[in-house]
Amino acid sequence: MSEAPLLTATGLHLSFGDNHVLRGIDLEVRRGEVVALIGPSGSGKTTLLRSLNGLAAPDAGTVAFDGGPSVTFDGGPRRAWGRAGRRAQAARDALRDRSAMVFQHHHLFPHLTVLQNVTEGPVQTRCVPRAEAESRALGLLERVGLADKRDAYPRELSGGQQQRVGIVRALALQPDLLLFDEPTSALDPELVGEVLTVMKELAEEGWTMVVVTHELQFARAVADEVLFLDDGAVVERGAPSTMFSAPREERTRRFLHQVL
Ligand code: ADP
Repeated sequence: MSEAPLLTATGLHLSFGDNHVLRGIDLEVRRGEVVALIGPSGSGKTTLLRSLNGLAAPDAGTVAFDGGPSVTFDGGPRRAWGRAGRRAQAARDALRDRSAMVFQHHHLFPHLTVLQNVTEGPVQTRCVPRAEAESRALGLLERVGLADKRDAYPRELSGGQQQRVGIVRALALQPDLLLFDEPTSALDPELVGEVLTVMKELAEEGWTMVVVTHELQFARAVADEVLFLDDGAVVERGAPSTMFSAPREERTRRFLHQVL
């Protein structure tokens, strides 16, 4: 029997007022897999990503992590979380605790050094002893070529370096699942490459990743599966080699034609 998916989302719906942003999304992510979410601006990619780790609470649907119990959404944040039973609560905690998100803007604490930014999460939320968190953080900073910046403040770094620290901060939580929300779209073009290189290395090391991206060449090179979203629905999904060279759907074709 094949291994259960690490993450399974089914029938996700989410509205902001009258704006029906997710319209029945199904998604499976297997261990070690890289899934890229592509599509026009406003198609619901970020909202989908945020739904996968509990930052957004859909109105309907379920999300299950690693074969555990699923979170069932039944209408708005308060109802989704507030009425959750103990099993659902445990499922929600699993989503939060076992995934880590890298944002478009790095959200580093400006008043903390690089090392402090990376160790704060493990120490505060995972109860990792500080010495251990620091040694792990230094190893990770070394890997992305930033060990010499350990005592620098975020403002002293370039945008690309800040984003690499953002990635290290996510890795330091030792998550099972890494979620990336357009991690390069706020960067100057010449800084994009260094961040994509780190992400590519993580993919090669076997990290499980869901990546919202406009970098289609990156998706093509790194993703195992690409989902093309439009208007809150998955229009087409498949291997990048197939989707980029011979999309089945007219809408996918039009989108790729515009952006490639
Ligand atoms: P994408 O990532 O594909 O650009 P988003 O998920 O960011 O799409 O947004 C999808 C739609 O949801 C857009 O119409 C956006 O304006 C709306 N939206 C996103 N977040 C919120 C929010 N917190 N409140 C209200 N509307 C939102």
